[in-house]
Amino acid sequence: MKNTLDKALAECRKFTSEGTVASYIPELQKARYDALGICIMTENEILAVGDCDEKFTMQSVVKPMILLLALMDNGLEKVRDLVGVEATGKPFDTFNYSDRALTGAHINPMVNAGAIALLTLINGDSYAEKFDRLLSLTRTLADNPSLEVDEAVYLSESQTGSKNRALAYMLKAYGMISCEVEEVVDIYFRACSIKVDCRDLARIALVLSRKGRDPKTDKQLFPAEFAGCVNAILSICGMYDGSGEFALNVGIPAKSGVGGGIMAVVPSRMGIGTYSPALDKKGNSRAGVKALELLSRELNLSIF
Ligand code: GLN
Repeated sequence: MKNTLDKALAECRKFTSEGTVASYIPELQKARYDALGICIMTENEILAVGDCDEKFTMQSVVKPMILLLALMDNGLEKVRDLVGVEATGKPFDTFNYSDRALTGAHINPMVNAGAIALLTLINGDSYAEKFDRLLSLTRTLADNPSLEVDEAVYLSESQTGSKNRALAYMLKAYGMISCEVEEVVDIYFRACSIKVDCRDLARIALVLSRKGRDPKTDKQLFPAEFAGCVNAILSICGMYDGSGEFALNVGIPAKSGVGGGIMAVVPSRMGIGTYSPALDKKGNSRAGVKALELLSRELNLSIF
């Protein structure tokens, strides 16, 4: 497996030149565009190559955690009533919205509007408490109690986040959320700004691949059925409007973020975390996707 990982690193770094580092959140632009890190974690080993020590913000990779906590706190029916689970076939920051009313059927948990709506299904007396619970779950799944928010990225996104505010106001206008828009978008921005590395993502994916069982202690960290929900939704819409091609070429549940991370779940086998900040037109890490294609081919990872 180490040889395959070395090969993926050697062959895929060149694809960074085909992508662009996100600039609509100004702070993200500071990333080194040709970085590439890949980490594979199984029950018995951790293999990390390339820029695995580089830190980046989760961005949309936090959406599966938001979904998971909403499921744990309020169950599948409430989640399903609020947001749909169908692929939108649209970019992450739009509604699939052409009717005169916005409903859950237009969105899913992996697009921005769906994730913002699901934050309201996380229990907590205040938005600060909801966020603390989300951070704490993420730390547990990553087995990394030191995970924190990158304050500079958070501020940068908050200062430029008009589109996400607009999405939240649309959710409110159509009665899908009833809270203060500023409060919910604030924790959305904070959640997106949690700073991780490839190992953190690989470890979260490993827990999802084991249906919620902790790789070290075997303790069930969340109900197995919810891992099934998250993995199924990731395989349908985790890579936005690139999910179909990703299913064909890689064939595993995965989630990307505009910070350059991808968390990929190989059921019953391993978790993979990749980092490379140059993105393709759909907002997915270009070299990260290429590396996952190679790993899937050579290690026979596709579930299809
Ligand atoms: N924080 C980003 C945004 O809302 C997350 C999007 C992404 O990673 N695709 O625009």
